[in-house]
Amino acid sequence: MDRTFVMVKPDGVQRGLVGEIVSRLEAKGLKMAAARLEMMPEARVTEQYREHLEKPFFPTLRQYIMSGPCFLMVWEGKDIVPIVRKMVGATNPAAAEPGTIRGDLALDIGRNVIHASDSPESAKREIGIHFSPEELVDYTRIDEAVLYE
Ligand code: UDP
Ligand code: MG
Repeated sequence: MDRTFVMVKPDGVQRGLVGEIVSRLEAKGLKMAAARLEMMPEARVTEQYREHLEKPFFPTLRQYIMSGPCFLMVWEGKDIVPIVRKMVGATNPAAAEPGTIRGDLALDIGRNVIHASDSPESAKREIGIHFSPEELVDYTRIDEAVLYE
């Protein structure tokens, strides 16, 4: 099974969208392997967004992510990385298709509600930043037998 890192950002937590987002992933058939609500420490914000450190938007991005609690999760499923990216939608909510999380629930690129890993390599790296191996729960969803061919 493949894994990805998903995070409801502070605007999503404050707007009460954690349940809606978890529901969408659950209904798809994906399996939650770990979850934590926390104020993300600066060191892990910097690690998470390492590729954007030199970008002009990085200081405001860091401020945004540290403005309130985030809801961090690990999810599992076949081909999960591209599947969740599609469910999340384009980075700019103005370009995100209706039916996607950002397309349905967000308006501004600087308040786009959710993060999801963009490749299996990023997923592995990001899960490692935020979760220890013992925090990843290994179990079978009762419907796995009918979710997969
Ligand atoms: N971001 C921003 N302004 C920009 C580009 C990105 O505020 O012009 C923020 C936004 O929160 C985005 C995050 O930086 O989700 C990471 O950017 P990336 O291009 O990796 O988008 P994502 O992978 O989240 O779709
Ligand atoms: Mg990204």
